[in-house]
Amino acid sequence: FQVFLAPFTGSENEVTGILSVFHDITTLQEMHDRQSEFVTNASHELATPLTAIKGFAETLLDGALAQPELTEKFVRIIYDEADRMHRLVQDLLKLARLSAQEYREQVKLEPVAIRPVLEAAKQDLAPRWQQKKHTISLTTPPEPLAALAHPDWLKQVIVNLLENSIKYTPPGGKIMLTCSQEEREIKIEVKDSGIGIPAKDLPLIFDRFYRVDRARARTAGGTGLGLAIAKFIVEMLGGRIKAESMVDVGTTFTITLPSSTSE
Ligand code: ADP
Repeated sequence: FQVFLAPFTGSENEVTGILSVFHDITTLQEMHDRQSEFVTNASHELATPLTAIKGFAETLLDGALAQPELTEKFVRIIYDEADRMHRLVQDLLKLARLSAQEYREQVKLEPVAIRPVLEAAKQDLAPRWQQKKHTISLTTPPEPLAALAHPDWLKQVIVNLLENSIKYTPPGGKIMLTCSQEEREIKIEVKDSGIGIPAKDLPLIFDRFYRVDRARARTAGGTGLGLAIAKFIVEMLGGRIKAESMVDVGTTFTITLPSSTSE
């Protein structure tokens, strides 16, 4: 609590009362703590690949350059780590943009046909799911469904969810994209037959930088921000996102958005 005290005085300057104001600053303090925790986490996430880049570049300069087989291996590591940093910075920029009130206010919602967005996301990620020999099915009703949304940001949400399904499903898996309308809402599901998420972790996966298995997430190439960004966007669009999962069976993410014909 922050406390302000102000005395009331009478005509002869005698104190006749005290005005006390108790200002609850917990939320402000919490916001501040969360912000600095985020900066610490982000710096740490950036420092890890940077340390590797510096280390391997140093080793090359110290003589490894003379050994062609080492050179190629180390340059590959340097490239991969730089790529990781690049993705992280891109995700941080997305979050910063989405957090800016002015930006969110200027985002105009419009009717967005769902099927083309699902198809585009599937197409964009084709090299990755093809490499892992996954099949991705797309099921939408015969009548075209449209949500009141923003085409680029909605695609970003689907891409983030689909990327996770591809990453966290063993090769040869099945991923299903479906879309349906329930009353005045559009429901989009991204369902996989992957490793699943333990129940204790499920409530935390939308937190920034939260990962169920750090080592696995790192080799899978994630930034730890994909779901935080997806949630941020869905809420900006006035929708909801939830996850259901069973270990070794699979995970389903469901997004609900207002239908474009709901008015
Ligand atoms: P990351 O970049 O680590 O994938 P995300 O924010 O996208 O970060 O996801 C957070 C964590 O949630 C992941 O590290 C992973 O442990 C878990 N996760 C997300 N999607 C899935 C999925 N489809 N199947 C299993 N685990 C998942």
